[in-house]
Amino acid sequence: MKKLNGKTVFVTGGAGFVGSNMCELLVQKGARVIVYDNLSSGRYEFIKRHIGKKFKFIKADLLDRKSLSAAVKGNDIDLIIHLAANPDISLGTRQTDLDLFQGTVATYYTLEEARKNDIKEFMLSSTSVIYGIAGIRPTPEHYGPLLPISLYGASKLASEGFISSFSHLYGMDYYLYRFANVVGRNSTHGVVVDFLRKLRRDPRELEVLGNGKQRKSYIDVQDLCNAMIEIYTKSKSRSNVYNLATNGQTTVDYIAKRVIAKVAPKARIRHTGGIQGWPGDIANTHLSNKRMLKAGVRLKFPTSNGAVDNYIDSDEVKL
Ligand code: NAD
Repeated sequence: MKKLNGKTVFVTGGAGFVGSNMCELLVQKGARVIVYDNLSSGRYEFIKRHIGKKFKFIKADLLDRKSLSAAVKGNDIDLIIHLAANPDISLGTRQTDLDLFQGTVATYYTLEEARKNDIKEFMLSSTSVIYGIAGIRPTPEHYGPLLPISLYGASKLASEGFISSFSHLYGMDYYLYRFANVVGRNSTHGVVVDFLRKLRRDPRELEVLGNGKQRKSYIDVQDLCNAMIEIYTKSKSRSNVYNLATNGQTTVDYIAKRVIAKVAPKARIRHTGGIQGWPGDIANTHLSNKRMLKAGVRLKFPTSNGAVDNYIDSDEVKL
């Protein structure tokens, strides 16, 4: 079993939604943590309580190679957890080089620093959308060909390719974690937050993108971070590719009704129509979690509806 106690972990995007939950876990496990984040969508308030001798925060951009080099060099980093990316899939369709730079190029720059500084462990937050419109559901990790339908998905798939290639060329253990949709503490975006923001603006009507029948899997963020670390600590393999997901799916209408019941019981739903929520949206995603379960991961919220319900019922939503 690998231990995190005493290790130095460099977390890109550590002030974000997933990142801040990951940092909390790393602190609990006794790791020394360096967060590298430009705060474009992350929040300093999520991590400030940890800052001290064993927890450093660097506000800088991954595309600023000088800052990145200086942040990595001489710090005896054992593991890089690379979470920074553009979180908005639909924005990438309007700004077509956004995911290329914030996703693929940023990953390449981070890998280059790993290579130059002899860092031998690398973790990526990948995604279900790399499978594109999958012909098999629940979709297993070996499904192919991988044909994403968004530039965000393309950039993550390219990042996976760079990581695997760096590993083979320069020797590095890697963890490619393909997340289902994540909900929970410190979430600043995603469907639940979006619905709450809309209802706050107009408590009489909720606009739902698409026909509301889109079905996706959701996972609780703390379950997700625990799974990432559990697989990492147990693994003896160089290559680790895992879907991280719950059982079942949740429809957009289910979420809309649950959010309405909580904050604006008189609101009516207005669908914008169409199968997809936005161009590049995959209307039906369902990841197989067999490999994750086989690795011994047990989730506190094992079903997709359970993870969503827990989040909506909590008061964790950050508007
Ligand atoms: P987030 O926006 O909350 O976190 C991303 C963090 O990266 C932010 O703190 C942001 O400030 C930082 N960042 C972005 N670009 C940067 C740059 N160029 N330099 C330095 N910092 C930068 O998003 P999240 O939901 O926490 O997502 C974390 C990771 O998980 C992302 O890679 C995302 O693609 C992936 N992911 C998320 C979900 C989900 O449902 N949230 C699903 C699948 C995959």
